[in-house]
Amino acid sequence: MKNVIYLKNFVLDVLFPIKCLGCGKEFEGLEAKERWICKQCLEKIVMRKRQVCPFCEKDSDNGKTHHECQKKTFLSGVWVASEYSDDVISEAIHKLKFNFIKDISFPISKVVTKSILQVDEFSDFHDLILSEFSQDSGEEKIYKDDRKNEISETILIPVPLHKKRYNWRGFNQAFLLSEYISDEFHLRVNENLLIRQKNTKPQTKIKSMEKRRENIKGAFSVVENDFLKNKNVIIVDDVCTTSATLNECAKKLKSSGVKDVWGLVVARR
Ligand SMILES: [Zn+2]
Ligand SMILES: [Zn+2]
Repeated sequence: MKNVIYLKNFVLDVLFPIKCLGCGKEFEGLEAKERWICKQCLEKIVMRKRQVCPFCEKDSDNGKTHHECQKKTFLSGVWVASEYSDDVISEAIHKLKFNFIKDISFPISKVVTKSILQVDEFSDFHDLILSEFSQDSGEEKIYKDDRKNEISETILIPVPLHKKRYNWRGFNQAFLLSEYISDEFHLRVNENLLIRQKNTKPQTKIKSMEKRRENIKGAFSVVENDFLKNKNVIIVDDVCTTSATLNECAKKLKSSGVKDVWGLVVARR
């Protein structure tokens, strides 16, 4: 069996060599998922510096919804990891979604976790995503275990695809990302609680904010479940344009008793 796998990989390498999306080099001897963006190129990917409020899109510390905007959105905030203008990240997202290369979700998730940990100061968002995470850094623990008890459990929920879209792609890219991110931070992922009942037009094809909100309205529903009560949820997606989709998910989750809902996306378009 091992030989068969070896042979299969060998044939695939010859027919479809994997070249790093950044430098174009081939890295033999590594697992396929580690070859799409090499270590050096992963380091060069731009991290998002400026986070904005999901409602008014003006600057906000760590993407938290402004106090005065809280009544107008169901999101407590949105964390954006990188920049869509970064050629490597935009190509990686494109290859994942439209060339169906599932392995690319691995390096993309690395960009996301790096952006979360590479900050000067932890924020409300970090309280949720790092609620089960502790990492030793020299003498000091980066995240304090004693805060754990004060914080409800955080669950990652990928933005769901409609059945038709799912069948066409064969997977939900947001779910693949959620799995890797949850591994890193020891959180649970659930892809069955929130479903997409309406097959909406892609938001990128719609120009006005109002039409986008209309397009996505009523697209999601929560499968009746007490499980969500008093939990915190981080909704994961690959890209967001406005936060209309994330907000529509948040609306449904909050009506099921979820405490805080944050969005987490790879890049904003
Ligand atoms: Zn490279
Ligand atoms: Zn605001």
